[in-house]
Amino acid sequence: MRNRQLHIQTRAVHAGEKPDPSTGASSPNIVMSSTFVAGTDASFSIEGNDADAPFLYSRWSNPTVAQLEQKLADLEGAEACVAFASGMGAIAGLMLHCLKAGDHLVMSDVVYAGASELTNDLIPRLGIAVTKVDMSDLANVAAAMRPETRLVYIESPCNPIMRLTDIAGVAALCKAAGAELAVDSTFASPIATQPISMGADYVIHSLTKYIGGHGDALGGAVLGAGASMARLRQEITIHAGGIISPFNAWLIMRGVATLPIRMKAHENAALSVARFLEGHEAVTQVMYPGLPSHPQHDLAKKQMKNFSGMLSFQTHDGLAVAKVLAEKLQIIHYAVSLGHHRSLVFYLPSESMFETSFHLSKPQEAAYRKFAGEGIFRLSVGIENADDLCDDLAQALSHIG
Ligand SMILES: *Cc1c(COP(=O)(O)O)cnc(C)c1O
Repeated sequence: MRNRQLHIQTRAVHAGEKPDPSTGASSPNIVMSSTFVAGTDASFSIEGNDADAPFLYSRWSNPTVAQLEQKLADLEGAEACVAFASGMGAIAGLMLHCLKAGDHLVMSDVVYAGASELTNDLIPRLGIAVTKVDMSDLANVAAAMRPETRLVYIESPCNPIMRLTDIAGVAALCKAAGAELAVDSTFASPIATQPISMGADYVIHSLTKYIGGHGDALGGAVLGAGASMARLRQEITIHAGGIISPFNAWLIMRGVATLPIRMKAHENAALSVARFLEGHEAVTQVMYPGLPSHPQHDLAKKQMKNFSGMLSFQTHDGLAVAKVLAEKLQIIHYAVSLGHHRSLVFYLPSESMFETSFHLSKPQEAAYRKFAGEGIFRLSVGIENADDLCDDLAQALSHIG
């Protein structure tokens, strides 16, 4: 593919897109049509149509969604991509694609809460065994592997505590054990990390976050080898139906064009805010992969070309401080989600995360608390001016009693 030789900024703009052949439109049209006028040789079932058959019905494939999928595959260095209605749609879809009764899943013990909850209940109910380990230590991964392990699932940096996993290290263990590796790379984005180049079989993104980047469209994606993605599309998107709307695909594609420059801006602002917080008297700990104080800063330097805009910090009496921030912040929104142009902060008390989402052993809880204490503020640093963000935090923190 000619695009592979071009730099990522150019590919983010052009990959997957070309001027509309019927109108000459330079920007992509949104094709909202649910059905397409077909020839009499088209089959009514996906079983009878191959992957490059003409568009027939938008649950199977859609020109706007296909443009987004090609753009994302190009940026991740993947053969193919399947887009979903949300990040959780992508995660659930990939698990159903890879696993069946009798199989074993090894998973990071701290991942996006929704993915953790999915594998606490629904996935085990299907007869799939799940083992969750702290993957910042490769020995834990090696010890968890069984002959029936089919899939290893990691998130790096992980939501919400910013712990990293050595992707190439886990990939080598998977290869030796005959298991596949999936990486949720939402926090890193393809600008920071390209897991397929490190040996991963699948990459997952919540497109709702950095890739869309503007907080106005939910979406998800799975990327991987061509044949595998064709089967994922057939069995999961077409038959389970969790497809992305063309309008959301169009919004997200528009966001991707500026992803390289946004990630640079997120990283610059996050580094300033992280340093400011580290020097603030009310703050007891900051976790940002770009700071030397992060316990895995060396791994971050090795595996991330951009340190992204996500950081966490701790204070004494987090719950009381959360109330103050929610009330007093004027620029930063007190809200969930992340990766938007707008800065967002949210407080996550450790004890309630253990109850609702992460069912951890005592040693795993202790490892979690090393990063999160009694609770953390997850701060998604946007692309506003860093001094303005620091001033906003300073004025809000000045109200702590
Ligand atoms: C938000 C998030 C998800 C879920 O994505 P949705 O688009 O909200 O469904 C999955 N993984 C990570 C790391 C996330 O931050």
